[in-house]
Amino acid sequence: MSLSTAILEVAVPCPLRRYFDYLPAKDSGELPAPGSRVLIQFGRQQCVGIVRRHKSATELDPGQLRPIRQCLDQQPSLSAAVIELCEWAAAYYHHPPGDVFSQALSPRLRQTPSRREVNYWRYDGEMSSAERQALGKQQKTALTELAQGALSQSDLKQLGIGTDTLKRLEQRGLVSRETRRETAVYSDDPTPQPSVSTASTLPTGPHLNEEQVQAVGTISENMGQAGVFCLKGITGSGKTEVYIRLIQEALRRGKQALMLVPEIGLTPQTLQRLRDRLGADVAASHSGMTDTQRLKLWRDVRSGRVKVVVGTRHAVWLPLSNPGLIVVDEEHDASYKQQDGFRFSARDVAVKRGQQHQCPVVLGSATPSLETLYNCEQQRYRLLHLRQRAGAAKPPHLQTVDLREDAEAEGISNQARDALEQTLARGEQAMVFINRRGFAPILQCNSCGWIAECGRCDARLTVHKAQAQLRCHHCEFSQRLPQQCPRCDETRLEYRGPGTEKVAGYLQQCFPDYPVVKVDRDSATSSGRLDQLLQPFREGNPGVLVGTQMLAKGHHFSALTTVVTVDTDAGLLSSDFRAAERSAQLLLQVSGRAGRAEKPGRVYLQTRCADHPLLAQIIEQDYDLIARTLLDDRRRFRLPPLSYAAALRADADSLEKAEQFLWRLKQAFTPQEGLTWTGPLPAAMARRAGRYRSVVLITARERRPLHWALKHLVNCAEDLKTPSDLRWAVDVDPIDFS
Ligand code: ADP
Ligand code: ZN
Ligand code: ZN
Repeated sequence: MSLSTAILEVAVPCPLRRYFDYLPAKDSGELPAPGSRVLIQFGRQQCVGIVRRHKSATELDPGQLRPIRQCLDQQPSLSAAVIELCEWAAAYYHHPPGDVFSQALSPRLRQTPSRREVNYWRYDGEMSSAERQALGKQQKTALTELAQGALSQSDLKQLGIGTDTLKRLEQRGLVSRETRRETAVYSDDPTPQPSVSTASTLPTGPHLNEEQVQAVGTISENMGQAGVFCLKGITGSGKTEVYIRLIQEALRRGKQALMLVPEIGLTPQTLQRLRDRLGADVAASHSGMTDTQRLKLWRDVRSGRVKVVVGTRHAVWLPLSNPGLIVVDEEHDASYKQQDGFRFSARDVAVKRGQQHQCPVVLGSATPSLETLYNCEQQRYRLLHLRQRAGAAKPPHLQTVDLREDAEAEGISNQARDALEQTLARGEQAMVFINRRGFAPILQCNSCGWIAECGRCDARLTVHKAQAQLRCHHCEFSQRLPQQCPRCDETRLEYRGPGTEKVAGYLQQCFPDYPVVKVDRDSATSSGRLDQLLQPFREGNPGVLVGTQMLAKGHHFSALTTVVTVDTDAGLLSSDFRAAERSAQLLLQVSGRAGRAEKPGRVYLQTRCADHPLLAQIIEQDYDLIARTLLDDRRRFRLPPLSYAAALRADADSLEKAEQFLWRLKQAFTPQEGLTWTGPLPAAMARRAGRYRSVVLITARERRPLHWALKHLVNCAEDLKTPSDLRWAVDVDPIDFS
């Protein structure tokens, strides 16, 4: 297409669900290829858009259009495959395409280039270990990071290192500052380095059992073509070993591999295991990286220098040029669904990507989601089983402890405490699972019954005793722990219910000779810190871990034989349609931590509803039966995956405003056979961080009418005049209905 007649269709980062047309820059010789970043004037702002495609000028009147200001890429940033993926995702999730396209870029590449001066810090010179000892913790972290290369001040800030720290190091002569002019255009890394391959020197791994051989064989045969496989194997059955063999196969074919893991599954231990087996070019992608690190990874993945990426949700957008395999580990995990902004499911995007690149996608789990199992039932996905634990390990033994009969102290029943005591006496390890951090979930006045609540959320404040604070776990709010009741001045305040802090403190009192380590978001602030906390347990010494979901996955302790769950019932009693599924998955996963080596495992599920039918099925560890029962329920009530669903969510500074917006949308909704509209209803937590939230749920028997309805509603919503503080969002395939 010649320059004079071409029009550029551009994805512009803005809240509108459409693309925008621009003319090429007047004085430029070449037309920016699709996927190139272009600097454009949009309204009063300058911003970075991405060329989606070229259109011919005959399609509209070019006289109306503005030219782009500048093309920012020599080579397009996004490949044709990524463009197609973004187009699909924008249409499927009814999300503004500009936003979808721009999050496929590394954050640095989204910024409007400017000729700013940027402060960089550099590490100078050597230091004796005595000198190093004298430094503060922050200072040490800063030096460790800077030892790997200069970083900009904003990079350091992202790593939690402040200017004060840097200035103090500067005074000691350990670091120095330099000002660089940032280039206006981020171009490609000019020298793609050759990749390091050490395949011949790597350890070979265990001899696979028959089912593993079959899984590896079936999927390998399908390499080079599209296909989705559900690898269903109990914890410890050797799924990771299967992934490793498949990744090796992809590498042998000269392809790249992408492995997605849940947010809390990417531990240094997991990464080390993969690196040991696959060689050094396994890169990690996670939320703790700086923008500079992200940009480097993005480029290395694109150039093909990095062959294997292990990453959380966002890694699904990385520009792999030549993927041969995509693995989604713990595919049922809720962290694959982004819960704000662009609400995509990384698992589902991964499946789409596999189709596009003609490569197999492996969805692995001990407890696959009902969606995936249903897809297997419909023969869209292929189900592969690993029924036995690898090596000598046997499945753990599960039992309930009826809290109505067994008095509990600080959340721990007598029976569970005895079991823990015996475990430690045998020189083994135990894990106590409780999904609440802090000391106690409730602060209550003994005299008048007052309960401490958050002023901005419909939620109670949690007692954090060590910090003498009350904190809201839904917003940023915190305050000093009161010494008396604000309503009646009573000083006897009760810390009701168990949290990790309380349970850990109590168990440390019970077992003073053993380490009791608390693992939750308060104590394990980074994956490195988590690894540190767990180190003594990896060495096999007796002790007790007390922790939240963080402990449920990715860890392997061979001396861990006993598991106690404290708040087993929370999920069993919830009203959300997915609560039972979630609860069964979590409890089985936690149980799977016990007895992963030679020694048998025992699991104590403390409960107040010991007769709950789901609990009986969990005790039998019969996830097939659980899944079948739950799918029957979903079929009966026409819930996903036996129907298709989307939520329309609105929030504002009053519930009326949020609801009114949704009522107005309802007028644009045409009732239709097989399509239902429910709401607006207040969200499960109707007020959060001072915002009032309302929801509408639309379900449909077929996907297509749902999407037509959504498209229409979204168009109407964009045209509605709304109060300035109102925000709304579409949530396709929501993971909860509240
Ligand atoms: P999963 O990912 O299903 O939890 P892993 O792959 O982590 O299981 O395997 C659990 C343990 O068993 C690991 O220590 C692994 O090295 C070992 N393992 C895996 N496959 C075999 C096998 N075929 N023979 C012996 N040990 C194995
Ligand atoms: Zn009181
Ligand atoms: Zn709050």
